[in-house]
Amino acid sequence: MSLDDRLRDDATALAPELVTLRHRLHRHPEIGLDLPVTQRAVLEELDGLGLELSTGSALSSVTAVLRGGGGGSGPAVLLRGDMDALPVTEATGVDYASTVDGAMHACGHDLHTAMLVGAARVLAAHRDELPGDVVFMFQPGEEGWDGAGHMITEGILEASGQRVASAYGMHVVAARVPRGTFTTRGGTLMAASDALRVTVRGKGGHGSAPHLAHDPVTGAAEMVTALQTMVTRRFDVFDPVVLTVGSFHAGTKRNIIPDDARFEATVRSFSEAAQDRIREEAPVLCERIAAAHGLDVDVEFAAEYPVTVNDDGHAAFAADVVAEVFGEERSAPLPNPITASEDFSRVLAEVPGCYLFLGAHPGDDMDGPNNHSPRAVFVDDVLADGVLLHSQLAVRALRRDAADAGTNGAGR
Ligand SMILES: [Zn+2]
Repeated sequence: MSLDDRLRDDATALAPELVTLRHRLHRHPEIGLDLPVTQRAVLEELDGLGLELSTGSALSSVTAVLRGGGGGSGPAVLLRGDMDALPVTEATGVDYASTVDGAMHACGHDLHTAMLVGAARVLAAHRDELPGDVVFMFQPGEEGWDGAGHMITEGILEASGQRVASAYGMHVVAARVPRGTFTTRGGTLMAASDALRVTVRGKGGHGSAPHLAHDPVTGAAEMVTALQTMVTRRFDVFDPVVLTVGSFHAGTKRNIIPDDARFEATVRSFSEAAQDRIREEAPVLCERIAAAHGLDVDVEFAAEYPVTVNDDGHAAFAADVVAEVFGEERSAPLPNPITASEDFSRVLAEVPGCYLFLGAHPGDDMDGPNNHSPRAVFVDDVLADGVLLHSQLAVRALRRDAADAGTNGAGR
């Protein structure tokens, strides 16, 4: 039987156990960088597979290295699954719902964890046929905690003793993408995300006598609209920026001018150039408006995640793997980047690779509750598909990278 057939059979055979694992993780969601229960579950699942296991210091990550055949001379490939949940109170009504108040796997990372465990088991069973090593990245803290950044600092990219040649990751989607369909694109895939925090300081006074005070509210309001004008007038519509002020606070009563006003915005951009410019220019705009009105202002522009960029060649490779393994009809191009952001961007900034999405919604209505909703449901059916895709990406990427290394070596 060919390796392709054995990988498929193994992934299918593992599915019932992975459903059990996924439900177990779903019942006990953990948030942030410290996921002790999840980490323990992963370590238990990987025990006895002959992997080199290590855990993080700054976070409860698990790194597993599978040594393939070839005596360590081949390349290494990285597969990533994030493991953290969200501060959401589950309202799905599923029988494996969260038992932790105020926490839910509302982004499907429980599936990602189970899929990566499955891939580790399947690939470990065929290690002699791998022309290189596989690094499994079980990552906490994707939801705004920069877990990927911490794992890179702690050496995930060199975990096998050499830098990985390529990296792949996958995210399930609860709406919009048809169930069982994989989608991705070359180039920019997801937005960069930053936070803008502004405090405008004036001088409080009586609402009837603004000339005796310095009103921070009108100044802050002008900044909010000027930021929108800046985005539409000074940024290329084909290299867009999205700036949303989601929080604005000032004052206590209608006839009192407060001492200060505060607002916060999320800023999304799709290129390093646009991200650099908005980082520089948004604070300057706020400072100059403040100066024009005799106000003081503190502006903090906090960097969050960079743009997620798929290498063009690796995105085409991943789409081909999907088409060959699952059939053309399961591979859909993604015409535009999406405005969500992702810390796998940090891995793809260091190593070429590709990030994909997999439709995992339960019904035919593709406009149902999406990721992060308390009603988001992800179906178990996609677990075996995720395992098979991870496994095939690893096998085929190692073959490709080993062949490339051979060609380069011969030319030296
Ligand atoms: Zn997510």
